[in-house]
Amino acid sequence: MKLETLDTIKARCTLEGDCWLWPASSNPHGKPEAPKVRHGGKVVKVRRVVRELVDGRPIPGRLEAVARCDNLRCVSPQCSIKVSTKRSRQIQIERGHLNTPAAIAKRTATRRAASRFPEEVIEQVRNSPDSCAKAAAKAGMSKGHAHAVRTGQWRARANNPFAGLMA
Ligand SMILES: [Zn+2]
Repeated sequence: MKLETLDTIKARCTLEGDCWLWPASSNPHGKPEAPKVRHGGKVVKVRRVVRELVDGRPIPGRLEAVARCDNLRCVSPQCSIKVSTKRSRQIQIERGHLNTPAAIAKRTATRRAASRFPEEVIEQVRNSPDSCAKAAAKAGMSKGHAHAVRTGQWRARANNPFAGLMA
């Protein structure tokens, strides 16, 4: 049975200051998740394993190890703090890391809205000399969406990294 040690874990991380950054997920489009590793026959959170190795005792089930540096990939013992699972949930929600029903609904709606309009229509809204409301009506989208297109907050041109900053 494979057991990780502080050394084997640290060796896989990129060290940045106090942070130990676990390699990025091989599935970059998946939902952000705290890194996990197979340890003692179970798949467990790396940060938790590190904390337990440093503390020399298991973390009680009602507590979670959270990275106070706000980097989900950081598993450093210098950054991890133990909080209640309830507090950990709140922190994750604050950081947008948790798939709450509301967060999922919002993402789905955004994706749907984004795919409904072809690029030509988006381009029209973007370049039209009409008012936002008028352009929106012509394109059949809401005024809020048209505004977001014009300010670059939504459907920004993929080839322009500064879209949205120049609004
Ligand atoms: Zn950190």
